[in-house]
Amino acid sequence: MTSDLEAQLRAVSLRVTRPRLAVLAALRDHPHVGTDAVIALVRAEHPTVSHQAVYDVLRVLTDAGLVRRIQPAGATARYESRVADNHHHVVCRSCGAIADVECAVGHAPCLTASNDHGFVVDEAEVVYWGTCPGCAAASTSQ
Ligand SMILES: [Zn+2]
Ligand SMILES: [Zn+2]
Repeated sequence: MTSDLEAQLRAVSLRVTRPRLAVLAALRDHPHVGTDAVIALVRAEHPTVSHQAVYDVLRVLTDAGLVRRIQPAGATARYESRVADNHHHVVCRSCGAIADVECAVGHAPCLTASNDHGFVVDEAEVVYWGTCPGCAAASTSQ
C-alpha cells in the first residue's frame, strides 16, 4: 500500500521514514489541506509523530518537489502531493474550499502572456476565485 510512496521518496534520494510516508499518505488522501490538518491526519494514525516533525517533513518534501505548497491570497498555506503538472486551483471566497483545475489550454504554461518581457515562461499559476456549490446552495436556501 505504501510502496508507491516509498518509491517517490527514493526517486528523489530521500530516506524512507515513517513520518515522511505518513505525510505523503495524508496528502494523497486529502489534497489541499493546511499544516494543522496535516498534523491532525498524521497524528491520528501515528500519535508519536511530533508537530515539529510534521513541519520538518513538509519542508523537506516541498524542497524535494514531492509536495507543492499553494497559498491563495489571504489564505493559509495548503499542501498537495499532485506536483509538476501545472494545474490550477479554484478557491471558494466563503469557506476556502479548493479544487483542482486542469491546465487552462493545452500544455504548460497553458496561458500565453500578452507580454513576456523577454522571459522564457514555463509555468503559469492561476487562482480562480468564486463560490463553491455548498456555499452557493447555503446562500440561496436562506
Ligand atoms: Zn464554499
Ligand atoms: Zn491541486
